[in-house]
Amino acid sequence: MKIMSFSAVEILPALLDKSKTQTIRPAWSRFTNTDKQRKPYHKVGDEVRLMWKQRSKYRYFCSKCGIGCDNDTQQVTKNCECITIGVIDKTQRNVIITEVLEIEMFRFEEEQETICVTYSGGEERPTMTDKDMEEIAKRDGFNSSIDMIKYFEKNYISKGDTSTKKFYVYRWRNK
Ligand SMILES: [Zn+2]
Repeated sequence: MKIMSFSAVEILPALLDKSKTQTIRPAWSRFTNTDKQRKPYHKVGDEVRLMWKQRSKYRYFCSKCGIGCDNDTQQVTKNCECITIGVIDKTQRNVIITEVLEIEMFRFEEEQETICVTYSGGEERPTMTDKDMEEIAKRDGFNSSIDMIKYFEKNYISKGDTSTKKFYVYRWRNK
């Protein structure tokens, strides 16, 4: 079964309470340059297993900060300073993909502070309304579209980068 692994602590609460029903993934391979688009990794109807930090050596993680724990009973982990309300398992749950969209993130000019997010569509590039942005951020598990944009700027589109980057949006329903 295909795996979808998460590691962003920003979205951990929504992953755990199952309100996260979407993820946004780069449409390029991390081994190639960002202009070379690849096909979506998941398609509608696929069953996918959601995991937390799939590649980590740990099997259990602090449910608050997502750092690995040595066993499933620790209340205070050695590895983080949270007094945890519990630990989570690396394997979360299986979901069914219901929708695959393509979006773009970019800056018009180097000086532009914040990136723009649009639907893909060649020259026309249909813009997202504020409402669309809030919805997409919420589905993804972020508190707001501002938080979501900050995350993508930090991880994918550094200051001064004016290239257009494509992403796939995968949405699912819980099984
Ligand atoms: Zn912790």
